[in-house]
Amino acid sequence: MTSLRQSITILGSTGSIGTSTLDVIARHPDRYRVFALTAATQVEMLLQQCQAFSPRYAVMASAPHATQLAGRVKELGLPVQVLAGERALCEVSSDPDVHAVMAAIVGAAGLAPSLAAAQAGKKLLLANKEALVVGGELFMRAVREGGATLLPIDSEHSAVFQSLPEDSATWERRVEKIVLTASGGPFRQRDPKTLHLVTPEEACAHPNWIMGRKISVDSATMMNKALEVIEARYLFGLAPAQIEVVIHPQSVIHSMVQYHDRSVVAQLGTPDMRVPIAYGLAWPERIVSGAAALDFSTLGALSFEKPDDQRFPGLRLAWESLAGPVGTTAVLNAANEVAVAAFLDRRLRFDQIHAVNHATLGAMSPSKPVGLGDLMAIDAEARAVAGTVVARCAA
Ligand code: NAD
Ligand code: MG
Repeated sequence: MTSLRQSITILGSTGSIGTSTLDVIARHPDRYRVFALTAATQVEMLLQQCQAFSPRYAVMASAPHATQLAGRVKELGLPVQVLAGERALCEVSSDPDVHAVMAAIVGAAGLAPSLAAAQAGKKLLLANKEALVVGGELFMRAVREGGATLLPIDSEHSAVFQSLPEDSATWERRVEKIVLTASGGPFRQRDPKTLHLVTPEEACAHPNWIMGRKISVDSATMMNKALEVIEARYLFGLAPAQIEVVIHPQSVIHSMVQYHDRSVVAQLGTPDMRVPIAYGLAWPERIVSGAAALDFSTLGALSFEKPDDQRFPGLRLAWESLAGPVGTTAVLNAANEVAVAAFLDRRLRFDQIHAVNHATLGAMSPSKPVGLGDLMAIDAEARAVAGTVVARCAA
């Protein structure tokens, strides 16, 4: 039985998706074992995870943190090899002994190891939407050429994937559009004139989901949904005009597919990321996720509304950047990462996040990227431009 277990690398194991993934894996010791765990700076948490899951490797993003972890691993006598840096992240994502990689690093920092897993033909469970927003068609080509199986973990994209026919060759012929649902975040009903007063604490208090700080701010601006529109465009190969967003505050319907005959297929569930994680891990099987069941007797009304452009001006940047030259979505992602970090650092007002994204998009016209190096160069240039805009906003 042991030999049938799948070996899993979890990139970003100390984060919200990473810990939920370990929660699901712990429920199925007969199916999965952990090959590698990775983190940016959380040494003690990664150490605890190493004690609980006995991975072959533990990788810290930086050498000083790896040295700290190696010291603690030695003290405890754990049989774990500690590595550091991006190259090590790529190695534990492409090792021949790995079956599946959970890509749960936040931001463009996750692109290189996700791409390494794609090129090595792994089962790639993609939570790290920024990797696809930056990588776009290049990323999808790496998946095809590497023979990888790409399974979306973002709840909306998992819902769409579950609502689509198995044969992807039929999608273009049968599908009219996909409808991504959005909760509307914490400021769905807040007076837009007061958005400049929003604090990081308010922005990170999501009504339905508990998530990392960056995606929480993205949900509050609805940039998360803009990134998800771009993610859906590349994942499912549909035209941007075939992707629609509707606000559904209860987060019960996770997204829908409308077919040409006007039949709509949706996926429902409690808002718990262990559902799409378990689906990705076991696909095409179904396994226990640990999530509570929906109780239709107490659910009450499900409601829907159109997103308000004035309150959420960032949403339309998805379609605008998809209409730009290849690489424009990477510009948008980089600008947004810089703006969100500045907001969380209290160097930028909440309503200025959109101003930074909009101005950076307007200032750059990327040349066509042909590889990871080009993408990272676009990312670096956009970060520099966005940094200047942030400084100007703060002045
Ligand atoms: P998080 O901040 O909770 O965790 C991020 C993880 O990445 C941590 O383990 C951290 O140590 C690691 N990390 C951060 N920066 C790094 C770097 N430079 N190099 C290496 N490792 C680094 O984030 P999260 O909420 O778990 O989100 C992870 C990804 O999944 C994001 O792309 C997010 O958009 C996506 N996602 C999250 C949720 C959710 O419910 N949290 C839902 C859908 C999609
Ligand atoms: Mg999502």
